[in-house]
Amino acid sequence: MTAVQPHLKARALKSSSRRPAKELCSECGLCDTYYIHYVKTACAFLNQQVAELEAQAHGRSRNLEHPDDWYFGVHQQMVAARKTDPIPGAQWTGIVSSIAIQMLNRGQVEGVVCVQNTDTDRFQPQPILARTPEEILAARVNKPTLSPNLSVLEQIEQSGMKRLLVIGVGCQIQALRAVEQQLGLEKLYVLGTPCVDNVTRAGLQKFLETTSRSPETVVHYEFMQDFRVHFKHEDGSVETVPFFGLKTNQLKDVFAPSCMTCFDYVNSLADLVVGYMGAPFGWQWIVVRNQRGQEMLDLVQDQLETQPVVSQGDRRQAVQQSIPAYDQGVTLPMWAARLMGVVIEKIGPKGLEYARFSIDSHFTRNYLYVKRHYPEKLAAHVPDYAQRIVSQYKLPE
Ligand SMILES: Cc1cc2nc3c(=O)[nH]c(=O)nc-3n(C[C@H](O)[C@H](O)[C@H](O)COP(=O)(O)OP(=O)(O)OC[C@H]3O[C@@H](n4cnc5c(N)ncnc54)[C@H](O)[C@@H]3O)c2cc1C
Repeated sequence: MTAVQPHLKARALKSSSRRPAKELCSECGLCDTYYIHYVKTACAFLNQQVAELEAQAHGRSRNLEHPDDWYFGVHQQMVAARKTDPIPGAQWTGIVSSIAIQMLNRGQVEGVVCVQNTDTDRFQPQPILARTPEEILAARVNKPTLSPNLSVLEQIEQSGMKRLLVIGVGCQIQALRAVEQQLGLEKLYVLGTPCVDNVTRAGLQKFLETTSRSPETVVHYEFMQDFRVHFKHEDGSVETVPFFGLKTNQLKDVFAPSCMTCFDYVNSLADLVVGYMGAPFGWQWIVVRNQRGQEMLDLVQDQLETQPVVSQGDRRQAVQQSIPAYDQGVTLPMWAARLMGVVIEKIGPKGLEYARFSIDSHFTRNYLYVKRHYPEKLAAHVPDYAQRIVSQYKLPE
């Protein structure tokens, strides 16, 4: 059992203008609680400590001799999977919600930190400490906005819960791991999703209005492995927009500064990660990081069909060409973007190589962003594995 360390219960900050990470705050929620006392060491944007926290969570940090570790983090196993009976309204097939429900039903945990939406806005996050399968189910589907999931941490100590599952994205999980010893839990399970290019609620509105033909009816969207954004509308129709047709010049400032400086796309500190980008189109991508993650996956094996992960193609030329194009805000006419989308879908990277394409594109962009906006942070903030990934490419000044 993890002993509760005595800790100061500093007053939480309710005003975002006073957050210690300032404009780099990802609104993970830690500063809404008395655990703010630990923010200077816990915040992913004030203290990059991925390797140390990996060793704490998984028993080792990434092996820098292995490029797969640079990209996907510490892992025991990767597999592609989908539910044979998908959950209607889930982001993909609902593997995340299904694992959480099983953990609660089997008594592995007493509560689950997850995020529902508010009554009036389907994209406005409302973090909760769920205690029933219904509450977990109501949290299905992405809220594609910065979400203060850790704002419910105080409730855990107050509730007396000893076994907990937390679902979250990388920045939330880094802060969680840093305060894990203070939570007084006997067992903490962490189920993560990859995350990139998140936005504030206002930023989301701008993205939808700039990119979709009907922003007010979008219920769900995803940047897919076929190099298109798929928007699902209220009437069930799906609108696709090729990545190469995005209005990059108008969208350059839409992503949160925290996401522009993030190098934890694959949620390095979760026990189990459920995404899509390393799997064939329509399938989910599962990364088991440690034994606790395997235990969680085992609970839903009978609900899944699986296949091995594959890797096809070579991403490097496409990444190198996209670096100056993004930097200069190049936007292709829609007909050319569609044509390019069709060609690249046929000959472009697939499976794990698509995941590497996406990681390379974001890490090179973010490296340039940190170098230009926070040069004094560059050396300490960019982890070694990310430095290795970025150094494969020629970057503009
Ligand atoms: C902002 C965001 C960006 C993502 N980007 C990528 C990506 O680039 N590549 C990739 O492979 N996968 C990405 N994912 C993960 C992917 O979109 C799916 O969430 C994942 O595959 C799980 O699908 P599911 O059907 O099993 O989830 P569901 O069963 O629908 O459950 C979704 C879970 O996500 C949680 N959640 C929703 N919104 C948030 C949020 N803002 N912060 C924290 N937790 C949240 C909910 O609590 C819920 O439990 C992203 C997820 C998010 C939230």
